[in-house]
Amino acid sequence: MSQSARQAQDADYRPAISKGVRRLVAKATVGLDGPKLDRLMAELFQFAEQTFAALAAKDPPRRTIACGEGCAHCCHFYVQVTPLEAVGIARALRKNLPPDALAGLRQRLAQSYARVRGKDAAGRMVLAEPCPLLEGGRCSIYADRPFVCRGANSADASACRSGLGNPESVPVPMYVHQRQVYGAVGQGAADGLRDAGIRPHLLELVSALKIALEHEDPVAAWRNGTLDFSPAACVEAAKKARP
Ligand code: SF4
Repeated sequence: MSQSARQAQDADYRPAISKGVRRLVAKATVGLDGPKLDRLMAELFQFAEQTFAALAAKDPPRRTIACGEGCAHCCHFYVQVTPLEAVGIARALRKNLPPDALAGLRQRLAQSYARVRGKDAAGRMVLAEPCPLLEGGRCSIYADRPFVCRGANSADASACRSGLGNPESVPVPMYVHQRQVYGAVGQGAADGLRDAGIRPHLLELVSALKIALEHEDPVAAWRNGTLDFSPAACVEAAKKARP
């Protein structure tokens, strides 16, 4: 059995993580506004970081993680987010970017949306579309990046590179705890939204941001129903839900 498989098998902490996050998120959706969302996301990110740090201290990676600043192969693939992450990122972008930079980003998102629309993860691997949030090979929203991006890691950058534009899936050796902790927190958040009756509860990042940034106040628009995330619904989640 590989080291990754052994770590994954030992990692039965995921349901407990998801369960706690699920409860927290379902409760937080009541009366959710911008400041409340900021606090919720800060709490979720901190919880994930602390949980991951505790696991990493007990069971550190056996191989050196190859990820580093400026390495962005994984930023060319399908990224699944919850609406919480989408409106949280859109809120931060609206707050932090000057008008011309925001207009430029919205244009890049619209162009990217036209190319990625309807594509599943396999289709995105072949397309290898760079995330519109990349700037000079770096994530421009690093502090607010999605859970999926936080969990992504690799012990072999050449394996990541060879996945770009490749219709075959390429195995990437990774530190499983990192992927699983952030994955479990993201899953818990999605489940909490579903419990609160919010649909779609999983979205594709580029489409979701394009839609969210059409609104001055993305959080308020999402909660009062004027922001419709349906065109951004995650095709991967829909495929999994099929009998
Ligand atoms: S949000 Fe940031 S880390 Fe995630 S894919 Fe885009 S550029 Fe990469």
